Amino acid sequence: MIPLITAIWQTESWQRQMQQMIRDPEQLFSRLGLDIADRPDLAAALAQFPLRVTEAFIAKMQTGDWNDPLLLQVLPQAQEMTPQAGFVDDPLAELDANPVPGLIHKYHGRVLLITSPACAIHCRYCFRRNFPYSANNPSQRDWQQALDYIAAHPEINEVILSGGDPLAASDDYLHKLISRIASIPHVDTLRLHTRLPLVLPARITPELIATLSRHRLRTVMVIHCNHANEIDNATRNALSALQKAGITLLNQSVLLKGINDNVDTLITLSRRLFEVGVMPYYLHVLDKVRGASHFDVSEHQAQTLMRGVLAGLPGYLVPRLVREDPHASSKRPLALL
Ligand SMILES: *Cc1c(COP(=O)(O)O)cnc(C)c1O
Ligand code: SF4
Repeated sequence: MIPLITAIWQTESWQRQMQQMIRDPEQLFSRLGLDIADRPDLAAALAQFPLRVTEAFIAKMQTGDWNDPLLLQVLPQAQEMTPQAGFVDDPLAELDANPVPGLIHKYHGRVLLITSPACAIHCRYCFRRNFPYSANNPSQRDWQQALDYIAAHPEINEVILSGGDPLAASDDYLHKLISRIASIPHVDTLRLHTRLPLVLPARITPELIATLSRHRLRTVMVIHCNHANEIDNATRNALSALQKAGITLLNQSVLLKGINDNVDTLITLSRRLFEVGVMPYYLHVLDKVRGASHFDVSEHQAQTLMRGVLAGLPGYLVPRLVREDPHASSKRPLALL
């Protein structure tokens, strides 16, 4: 009986936590002991891309610190409103690779499905912060077009659920979608890109694990963790449950000025990920999206940092430093200087 009760409680809990996420900066700051009067500059940026952050993520921030590396990921800043040359709405030209609604096909052998328009957190550096989700939010019927597209391309062996955050969708929705993907014979791998194990670990319920294990596809989950402070006990338990279900866990980070652009921070992040069963995969230089220029670290600086990381870790804990070019056939690895 106890596991059942726990499971039901957890299911209600993640949905409630998602509904109750913080959208009001005043509420966020009062939780952190910060005075909103110190930041009259937030309003314009807030209007352009709203604040959204879960209680679980706030709980990992240090109180009283405007420069907390987790707070900075969600904090609207006046600099977002200053136009910067080269920072545009669709930096990856994804709309050029959007043959049917909800599906992006840029790379050989794999397609990305915009599974859910929602996220449990709004990351200020998000390259999809200006993405037209409303035109790419497939109803059940629209998935038919995406699935027909995959079925008609036998070279596609991997389907990536992305977003938004795919785990913001319900178990039932995911189960139906995954079953339909699994019924396409040439697809053998399912991948999910998600921040929920970090920002809403209660989402990783036994029901979700069952949903992700109940099909024939090899399953990979790429979590998006930028800083070791994002990994607390709740996250560790969620990751451990996923790993026990046979899901391969990888991490990708974005190199962000003021958050993780430091050799020691990056080394600590890789070590911490490994402790919780996650292998570092990519470290992305920032996609040049309008509103995110204050996070930019130059390629040269990124390459210098990576030399330090390489010198401080075993090779298997060094993520690949990459840039995403709009029309390239893969992420582009940046050579180390
Ligand atoms: C990043 C990305 C992928 C996955 O690329 P990998 O190098 O396999 O991780 C696939 N499709 C799109 C559109 C992407 O942006
Ligand atoms: S898509 Fe990813 S990076 Fe963008 S806001 Fe959602 S969780 Fe953050």
